[in-house]
Amino acid sequence: MKQERYNDLMWRGIGELTQDEIAEGWHWCRDWDGLLVGPGMFETCACQCEGVRK
Ligand SMILES: [Zn+2]
Repeated sequence: MKQERYNDLMWRGIGELTQDEIAEGWHWCRDWDGLLVGPGMFETCACQCEGVRK
């Protein structure tokens, strides 16, 4: 995911996660107060969400 895309989703409320992005492990993380996290991010490694690829 590109930084611009992340910013749109996370901070500007533009768009929604696609099936492909979800398949990659992107999700709104309950362990991080709804932060959008995904592959390669520290937060993803630390989160306890079930079924998330790390
Ligand atoms: Zn999570």
